[in-house]
This record gives sequence, C-alpha cells and structure tokens, in this order.
Amino acid sequence: MPFMDLLFHAQTVHRANFAPNQVQVSTLLSIKTGACPEDCKYCPQSGHYNTELEKEKLMEVQKVLQEAELAKEQGATRFCMGAAWKHPSEKDFPYVLEMIKGVKQLGLESCVTLGTLNKDQAKQLAEVGLDYYNHNLDTSPEYYDSIITTRSYQERLDTLSNVRDTGVKLCCGGIMGMGEEQKDRVGLLRQLSQMTPHPESVPINMLVKVAGTPLENVDDLDEFEFIRTIAVARIIMPTSHVRLSAGRQTMSEQTQALCFMAGANSIFYGEKLLTTGNPEADSDRMLFKKLGITPEQRHDVSDEAVQESIVAKAKAQEEAKFFYDASV
Ligand code: SF4
Repeated sequence: MPFMDLLFHAQTVHRANFAPNQVQVSTLLSIKTGACPEDCKYCPQSGHYNTELEKEKLMEVQKVLQEAELAKEQGATRFCMGAAWKHPSEKDFPYVLEMIKGVKQLGLESCVTLGTLNKDQAKQLAEVGLDYYNHNLDTSPEYYDSIITTRSYQERLDTLSNVRDTGVKLCCGGIMGMGEEQKDRVGLLRQLSQMTPHPESVPINMLVKVAGTPLENVDDLDEFEFIRTIAVARIIMPTSHVRLSAGRQTMSEQTQALCFMAGANSIFYGEKLLTTGNPEADSDRMLFKKLGITPEQRHDVSDEAVQESIVAKAKAQEEAKFFYDASV
C-alpha cells in the first residue's frame, strides 16, 4: 500500500482498540549479563563473540527490587527482567521467583525473559504471579537459521506454548534490520498473528549493531520499512500492545512519532536496554510532552479492571431482567 494509506489504516485500527494518545511504559533490567551459550548473531551477550561486554552473575534479589522501585518512581508500570541464559538453572530459578514476588508487591507488573522453559518452570512462574514472559521469535522460520543455530525455532514455539498454557501473558516479537528480506518480516508477523490468542505484547526491535557481533556491518534497514512493519503488526494484531523497542536511540523524534502513528503503543523507558543504550527517560518525557502522549496507567489494562467490567456488565444484564420497557 502507499505509505500514507497504510499509516491511516493502522491508525484507524489503533483508535478502534486503544486510547490513541496513551503509551504503555516498561523498564528493563539485565539481571544476569553476558556469557550466554546461545549464538544469536545480533547479541553482545553471546559467549561466542568478543564484544568486550562485562559479564555479571545473577544480581541479588534486594538490588533488583531497588531498581524496580526506582523504575516505579520514574513512571514505569511494568518491570522486565532479562537473564542471558539458555534456560534457568535449578540453582538460580528460586531467586528469580523471589524477584517476581517482590516486583508484584511493589504494585508493578512483572515480566521476565529467561530462555527456554519447560512446563514445570512455566507453572512455577505462574504460581508466583508472573504477568508476562518474553521470548522472541526474532525473524521468519526461513531466515532463522542464518541468525541462530543453537536453539531451534520449534524450541521457541514450545516454550511459548508452555507459557501460554499457564495463563501467563506472552511478550513475543522480533528484530528488523538483520539482513532479512521483506518476506521474512512478513513471515515473522504471520507466525505471531497465527498464535491464538495473539501475544499480548509484540516488541518490534530495530537491530542495534554492536562491534564484535557477526551483524555489526549489516546494511541499515530503511526506517520507512521499519514503520511499515509496525503498521502491519498493528493491523493484523489489533488488540496487542506493539512495542517500539530496541533501536530507538538512533531514531529521530520524527521517526518515533511516525511509529506511534503506525500503532506502536509501548516503549522501554529509562537508561539502558539490557546492554545497549536507550534514550534517557527525560528525553522520552520531553517527546511525550511534544506529542501530547501520556503514559498508560496500569488500571486501564489490568486484569482486575477487565474482571470488574465483566462483573458489572453481568450484573446490569441480571438487573435488566427485573424491569420491562414501559415505552413499547
Ligand atoms: S539473545 Fe538471549 S539467548 Fe541469544 S545470545 Fe543473547 S542473551 Fe543469549
């Protein structure tokens, strides 16, 4: 479609499903950094590449909760914790469960990304009240092997299904600008849109090229193509939060505004996006002000609010039975 037509269509779908000038704000913290056994070609945390990243062990629970409190003070409603693991170990997993409990007690939504999960781990996460699990498909099934060889696409789909079975919401998207073709961006969006229900959160990342990774010199993706990808995600997954994710730091304010116009309604706020930079929270606040955007408040979308509105509707229907319409 012509760019303007596509954007208009996406914005129309967006307005039918969301408050048009609200953007959900999350904060992301790396709770275990580097030395990952996977070989994702875009990732500075992979142990396969020398990116001079400082490796860190699993953070202490108290330290994580201090960061979560700070994120809350800065206006975040969701706190996301990422660990560079193939899968969580038996030794570390209980600490992650404690972190989730603590984040929930602060009144924040919780999200973790820990790699592959089996059914039992997914269940334990659900039991402590995890709200979202992030596990990206990254790209199309066809292009996937050019990017990752140590974890199969099917393994990712299995983890997503293990999480979905527990009722924890899914955060699942991909990365654009890894040398893929348009058909691969389409292929990724098709995979996501075929999940029932759609992932509640769909991060659309622009590759951040990091020196030392195999993708450090890949050609830039045209930003219009990136905006188009967001627009298509909005149209085919109308009720999902589409997150403008990594890569925002190199985008102009105008490009980010077009991404919001195309239906992006979630961002990471704060100083760091795992190990690559993220625009300072203050510049995000300035941009929101210029665009008249306000951060989405948690009660707008919480399960409790949805539950309350269902109960209220049911009550109204029940009460309606006791009245007859005197006007007919
Ligand atoms: S993207 Fe995740 S799984 Fe892949 S190398 Fe980086 S930390 Fe490991």
